[in-house]
Amino acid sequence: MVLSDGETTVLLDAGLSARETVRRMVSAGLCPESLSGVILSHEHRDHLSGMGPVCRRFKLAAYMTGKTFKNAKPLLGALPRVEPFSCGADFSIGTLCFRPFSISHDAADPAGFTVSAHGIKVGIATDLGVCTSVVAHHLSGCRALFLEANHCPDMLDAGPYPWHLKQRVKSRIGHLSNQAARDLLGRVLWPEVTHVVLAHLSETNNLPEKALSVVGEALGNHSASLIAAHQEQVVDVWIPAKPPPPG
Ligand SMILES: [Zn+2]
Ligand SMILES: [Zn+2]
Repeated sequence: MVLSDGETTVLLDAGLSARETVRRMVSAGLCPESLSGVILSHEHRDHLSGMGPVCRRFKLAAYMTGKTFKNAKPLLGALPRVEPFSCGADFSIGTLCFRPFSISHDAADPAGFTVSAHGIKVGIATDLGVCTSVVAHHLSGCRALFLEANHCPDMLDAGPYPWHLKQRVKSRIGHLSNQAARDLLGRVLWPEVTHVVLAHLSETNNLPEKALSVVGEALGNHSASLIAAHQEQVVDVWIPAKPPPPG
């Protein structure tokens, strides 16, 4: 995903090819040449396959933890520059301040993030098996939330995945179900949330309408927009500088 405050633009994970990443940025009115860096949350292929080519093409620094780099290195190729970070320690890229935090997932050192700029905080937590108190703590006070709603448990159980993969997805180091995403949202929802974006939906084990319906239960009468991101489409989320007036 691309994060921008209008001054600094950063790519967080790069699971698409460099060509497709560029195409989508341009289609969203963003200039790929304006990128200031690429951050990697963890070393799974669906998050890094385009990272090496994007960093090389635009001569960008790659930000990731040391353990993630150790595991991702063979898949990334030569990078112009690597900037290591540690979960729990803030780092800045231009005007954007990132706070990475540990998440429970079957990777070396997986991270979720909050991004702050101009007094606005946005939270991103995809690829996590469970919402720990660390996750809930970091996602509190966010104006926008990008949350994993990976699967519908019934669809996963009845679906084509082999048994061991079903167990892995469901485990504490796997992925959040729609119900788990709903419960996470219930823990961190507050009046100033303007957007909740559901991400990392399984194409095999979930349907956007199911995810929206289940996670929507946590919203009740809250006015936040609830959106399900789609792998094939650009979702454009604009967070206003000030919360909208009540009513
Ligand atoms: Zn993933
Ligand atoms: Zn993953």
